[in-house]
Amino acid sequence: MKYIIIGGDAAGMSAAMEIIRNDKDAEILTLEKGGVYSYGQCGLPYTISGIIPSTDALIARSVDTFRNKYGIDAMIYHEVNKLDPEKKVVHATNVLTEEKFKYEYDKLLVATGASPHIPDWKGIDLKHVHSLKTIPDAHKIMNDMGKDINDITIVGGGYIGLEMAESFKMMDKHVRIIQRGKHLANIFDEDMALLIHEEASKQGIEVVINENVLAINGEQIVESIQTDCNVYKTDLVLIATGITPNTNFLKDTGIIFNAKNAIQVNRHMETSIKDIYAAGDCAVHYHIVKEKDDYIPLGTTANKQGRIAGFNMVGVQRPFSGITGSSIIKFMNVSLGKTGLSEKEAQSLNLPYEMIKLETNNIAGYYPGGKSILIKLIYRNDNHQLLGGQVIGEEGVDKRIDVLSTALFNRMTMRDLEDLDLCYAPPYNSTWDPIQQAARRHS
Ligand code: FAD
Repeated sequence: MKYIIIGGDAAGMSAAMEIIRNDKDAEILTLEKGGVYSYGQCGLPYTISGIIPSTDALIARSVDTFRNKYGIDAMIYHEVNKLDPEKKVVHATNVLTEEKFKYEYDKLLVATGASPHIPDWKGIDLKHVHSLKTIPDAHKIMNDMGKDINDITIVGGGYIGLEMAESFKMMDKHVRIIQRGKHLANIFDEDMALLIHEEASKQGIEVVINENVLAINGEQIVESIQTDCNVYKTDLVLIATGITPNTNFLKDTGIIFNAKNAIQVNRHMETSIKDIYAAGDCAVHYHIVKEKDDYIPLGTTANKQGRIAGFNMVGVQRPFSGITGSSIIKFMNVSLGKTGLSEKEAQSLNLPYEMIKLETNNIAGYYPGGKSILIKLIYRNDNHQLLGGQVIGEEGVDKRIDVLSTALFNRMTMRDLEDLDLCYAPPYNSTWDPIQQAARRHS
């Protein structure tokens, strides 16, 4: 069987590895437009700040490993421009030599990820204007950091914006985040996000909200950024305003997309066209709590969906269980975690809900070193099923989010949460874990 995978990162190579494990006769060709395979984009902010010494450390498996150890025909600098589903052929171009190729497949996986959304503002092409997605993007930013850069403006207060604000701050830069909406990290409810603003202010990070960027000014190099309210002098701009699925080359194939141009797949990662699968940031993600497809592009999901695609491509029937929409961000001294629905999402889905908010200690009150942790739980007010949780604090956020995510995964109620047998000793917890303390308050 001849398998072709477009995209050589998380989703694509997770699928490739599962195909190898399950089909001993598999012929696998992977087409990647960049020069690197299987690297941890999530580590890029930390290589820029210097916590991780080199981007080489982010590469999980090299192209040579895929070729020599696993026998995959792993191509680099090969961009797929066209797909002919009738003939089962993909058309690719070597981006360095412009040579054109045609490859036939029996089964095809589209794992092309997503690219930063780049607004069409005047001045967007000026020097010292960046986005962050790939290792070369990180190198360009690191290269500029050696120059006379003191004031940095980040447009967009999502997780990449916040992680990069921390990185730049660690380099002693003046950092400004411009956010179009009312608050940073808009996956959180406003009451929770205010803690992020407090942390930004403690750390001397300037936060500008409710302003729309109109243009970036400068001759050749950025000098200032202009919003509908102000002009801010700045030396470097990072655009972090979201991402768009890399699916344009599939437009006239008959493949169905959602409103965000992500490929519509079923739970077996099959697209609307036979023998064509899709996974990762280019595809939709079934949301367990919403009970419908969503688009929450994350590395953890890309790996899982890629693996599931691999299983199904070789004929091992295995559905994707779905996501709960769990994520965590480290921002200076606090961690921000969210899983399931926020209050505003519950409202927009018209769900009957209640919420509980509790601020407490992350460990036993009498044990030294405890830190404050703020928990918000959302649950259905008819059957008391948990709908979501947001947790912000200096320590212990990841553990609580993972317990809440497991509860959502198993469709547990507030009573189930109360009854969970969670570990306890004073340096780690209270006899009642903070999320159980919160759950016990439900009516
Ligand atoms: P990608 O990793 O984007 O891979 C797609 C590949 O396809 C790319 O290598 C691309 O070059 C290639 N490609 C695209 N089009 C074509 C074409 N036409 N022909 C050939 N090749 C093509 N997620 C988390 O869960 N936690 C985090 O902490 C986190 N932090 C992040 C921090 C940063 C700075 C970034 C940028 C992302 C972060 N993510 C995080 C998101 C995570 O990296 C992505 O969700 C994940 O990489 C998606 O994997 P993918 O395989 O679907 O797509």
